[in-house]
Amino acid sequence: MDIRVFKLPLPGLGIESVNVYLVDNILVDVGLYSARTLHVLVRGLRASGMNVCDVEGVVVTHFHVDHLSLLPLLLDMCGFEAYMGWRDLDVIRRGAVEFVKGILEVYRLNGVPVEELELITDLHPVMKFRDVYDVMLRDAPIKPLRDGDMLAGGSLRVLEVPGHTPGSIALVNDYEGVAFVGDTLIDGITPHVVAHRESRDPLGEHLSSLRRLASMKLKTAYPGHRSPIGDPAVRALELVRFHEDRLNEILGLIRGRPRTGYDVARGVKWRVRYDSWDQYPPVERFFAIGEAIAHLIHLRELGLADYHEEKGVMKWYALNP
Ligand SMILES: [Zn+2]
Repeated sequence: MDIRVFKLPLPGLGIESVNVYLVDNILVDVGLYSARTLHVLVRGLRASGMNVCDVEGVVVTHFHVDHLSLLPLLLDMCGFEAYMGWRDLDVIRRGAVEFVKGILEVYRLNGVPVEELELITDLHPVMKFRDVYDVMLRDAPIKPLRDGDMLAGGSLRVLEVPGHTPGSIALVNDYEGVAFVGDTLIDGITPHVVAHRESRDPLGEHLSSLRRLASMKLKTAYPGHRSPIGDPAVRALELVRFHEDRLNEILGLIRGRPRTGYDVARGVKWRVRYDSWDQYPPVERFFAIGEAIAHLIHLRELGLADYHEEKGVMKWYALNP
């Protein structure tokens, strides 16, 4: 299998770059809806002796802007085959903006103040690209992939790895022991998992996906950001442990005193450079709140926590073991 990586810029997103892979003649992810991104991709492909429309097809690992949003432009230019996980495709078909609004409704029920919700809504990446999602992508000719589907003449197997998004997928070459994992495994960064309405327990799904990846005999994982991962099982289990520690931390926060998800988000020791919650940029607040609630939901699934409602807001508390 011939693998090339293009590190495409993400202007305006505050993240350095996204990895787009050319695997034989298939692109894994496409990058951000931006002329600069497209230009770097065109030049990278040309350096590999190809024009953009020579690509045979595109597989997108998940629906986030930095991985997917350039796709409608490429489809209009080249008309090639495009695929993504069926659950993320469902999100796109029903409207990504609706999906984000559903998340914000969960946040509201978890005590996030209205002013803060408005701030987060305006600056959320999907909202900034709402035309791309709700006009260009919604009915785009993208085909759904399910666990076990084969691509690239049988050399890539689809693995559903829900968690980072409801329909995240990885692509595995069993023969060579490599996988393209999107944002499910990243070196040095903990992939976000936020609460949403597409699954009962998003963090539980993510932990199962990580354990599944850890159980495979992979030699290398190619992530959506940063460098290839030399021991994917070790990294996957590190991430599982990270979430187990955070579950314990959050359980401590709700022991003896019921708190809202918003309160919990403000009480967690996030690994960030800000001294107080007020300094958090809105996008980081979105992720911090969503992560806190996803952990609370998982604690409830584990039988370790529950909530009651007070004036329409959920108050979470630890259950005695
Ligand atoms: Zn992502």
